[in-house]
Amino acid sequence: MSQGLTTRLLHADRLAGVEHGAVHKPLHTAATYGYPTAQALIDVFQGAAPGYVYSRQGNPTGAALEAKLVMMEAARSAAVFSTGMAAISALFLSLLKAGDHVVSSRFLFGNTNSLLQTLQGLGVTVSLVDATEVAEVESACRPETRMVFVETIANPRTQVADLAGIGALCARLGLLYVVDNTMTTPVLLQGRDVQAGLVVHSLTKGIGGHGHALGGAVVDTGLFDWATYPHIAEPYRKGDPKGWGMTQIRKKGLRDMGATLRAEDAHRLAVGAETLALRLDRTCSNALQLAQWLSAQPQVAMVHYPGLPTHAQHERAAALFKGRFGSLMSIELREGLDPLAFLDALKLVILSSHLSDNRTLAIPVAHTIFWEMGPARRAEMGMAEGLIRLSIGIEDLADLQADFAQALARL
Ligand SMILES: *Cc1c(COP(=O)(O)O)cnc(C)c1O
Repeated sequence: MSQGLTTRLLHADRLAGVEHGAVHKPLHTAATYGYPTAQALIDVFQGAAPGYVYSRQGNPTGAALEAKLVMMEAARSAAVFSTGMAAISALFLSLLKAGDHVVSSRFLFGNTNSLLQTLQGLGVTVSLVDATEVAEVESACRPETRMVFVETIANPRTQVADLAGIGALCARLGLLYVVDNTMTTPVLLQGRDVQAGLVVHSLTKGIGGHGHALGGAVVDTGLFDWATYPHIAEPYRKGDPKGWGMTQIRKKGLRDMGATLRAEDAHRLAVGAETLALRLDRTCSNALQLAQWLSAQPQVAMVHYPGLPTHAQHERAAALFKGRFGSLMSIELREGLDPLAFLDALKLVILSSHLSDNRTLAIPVAHTIFWEMGPARRAEMGMAEGLIRLSIGIEDLADLQADFAQALARL
């Protein structure tokens, strides 16, 4: 029987061979790599021999993290970047051209929404649809559609896209399906389970968990047939077509655009990933119990959390995420209660824009992370102006509940 994820992550470096029996891959901070002969250098450059040429394009510490991501997603290959947004922009800019069309969920991380606007300025058209309904995705597809992009649990309103239905649709239409799996991580969902071709992660969030390094990744599940993708440049159409897409993302998106993950941060993120499954046990259980408790408080009008039976996609989430529902929720207070006063009264919970940290975080979304979008687009995303987003951490449940209770009592 194959070993569990935590076991494999903990022993991956050691078993891949590290000098002195060290249990971690060392930090390779060299900017460049030297070779004894011209032919050896040429072979590495041309991909005929394994090796590194210049760290912008990859280094051994980053590669060890990439190997762990491949393990986590049961995927074919992965490339790491300096941030999640760097990974997403590298993916878009290396695969899309003017005249292309993208179908995206309209329930989107704010910066991804803003990036899609930038793409529109470059001649890519974008349709934003309600991805909880596969029919909406299907009716937006056109002959020039190149990819469908969705998030698993949308921030901040926690809508759950019809991930499996969209995967089946993309497979039927031969479309590249890209899933941002940041909010669920591979512990709750592997991209391949919903037929994603590419998976993106902000490693800054759950996978790192400790909140002390930024990072991002693009993962190729191996399910998409890159021989059918029209924009693979001639030099990258070599060898097994399954590798073409990642080659282009690495060359165009990482080498040319240059948002390389530092070795120090790759190391921190890899250490964080070792405890991902344990931390998720705790955050998912904390979040579910807090969501249930908050729903019963008279000051709280609404709790948006996929783990509650009242959530519109509760059953879909239960089936997709193996009975767990993540660390993200959002709440609306009763009419007349001031959300900012509630936030100011919190003592333990941190007022912060980050997500999936080990610490519990809260933020008023319309005033901050979704401020730039404006009220009309916020309404389209289902966001009440007083919505408060909570990202539940691994603190002891009783302490979190006590903090929320004292803050609600002060209203
Ligand atoms: C945070 C986040 C990103 C961006 O990641 P960074 O590492 O902050 O650049 C992308 N997608 C989702 C769903 C996120 O939560």
